[in-house]
Amino acid sequence: MTLLGAHISVAGGLEKAFDRGESLGCAAIQIFTKNQLQWRSAPLPAGVCERFLRRWSESPIQKVAAHASYLINLAAPGTLGEKSSLSLQDEIERCDSLGITEIVVHPGSAKENPVEEALRLVTGRLRSVLERTEGKRVRILLETMAGQGAFLGAKLEEIAMLVEGTDWDDRIGICLDTCHLFAAGYDFRSPEAYERLILSVDRLVGLERIGCIHLNDSVHARGRRLDRHSHLGDGEIGLSPFGYFVTDERFSFVPCILETPLEGIGHGGDLALLRKLQGGDE
Ligand SMILES: [Zn+2]
Ligand SMILES: [Zn+2]
Repeated sequence: MTLLGAHISVAGGLEKAFDRGESLGCAAIQIFTKNQLQWRSAPLPAGVCERFLRRWSESPIQKVAAHASYLINLAAPGTLGEKSSLSLQDEIERCDSLGITEIVVHPGSAKENPVEEALRLVTGRLRSVLERTEGKRVRILLETMAGQGAFLGAKLEEIAMLVEGTDWDDRIGICLDTCHLFAAGYDFRSPEAYERLILSVDRLVGLERIGCIHLNDSVHARGRRLDRHSHLGDGEIGLSPFGYFVTDERFSFVPCILETPLEGIGHGGDLALLRKLQGGDE
């Protein structure tokens, strides 16, 4: 079975995420290892890492993924791009000292650059980050995007070009986001359409590269390129497609992470829906 979970706050200390995740019954969680809206962060003291690892070892939560800062733009030219590359390196080093093996990052925004040029910049930066973090077991997961503005990664082909640009490095993976895929125009609302989507991911990058799946319904209609998440079954995707993901044997042990609104039924409500789709108890 896939590992069900949610994006969890680390307010009050990184290890507090386990308390919150456990109270929701999560088998996997996603966290920010630092303030996602700030470039700089103090290095992680050894004591913090020890507490985190000790708490994890006592927890039923099997997998922890990290999401990188929203400020990072590997497609930016010049100093912003360089800063982004250093920031991703820092995120990887933080993950490594916390025992986290997956970091989700947005491929970047091309701004006014042509897409090909932007993809080349991202590829170069990924290669240099991989080089500078050689030997670390952390995998960089490129997230599929909704296609708002000039964000790269709304097309699976673009994600595949980035993977190819790193010579298919084992430490490059991908993160599928259902809301983003749908906003970008992909359909998976019938079993046949779902299978077509998964087969094209397999053909383009290989299913073993999927290190995380974000499960979010979409407020907006398919192909609108607008990124707004809603509770499962409350949006334009509808509830049943989420069942295809969470019961897919090909994704056993892949974390399926909710990033749905905290209001209303909250993550607890969405997790109950997913458990029901998996055929278990609510
Ligand atoms: Zn994201
Ligand atoms: Zn989103």
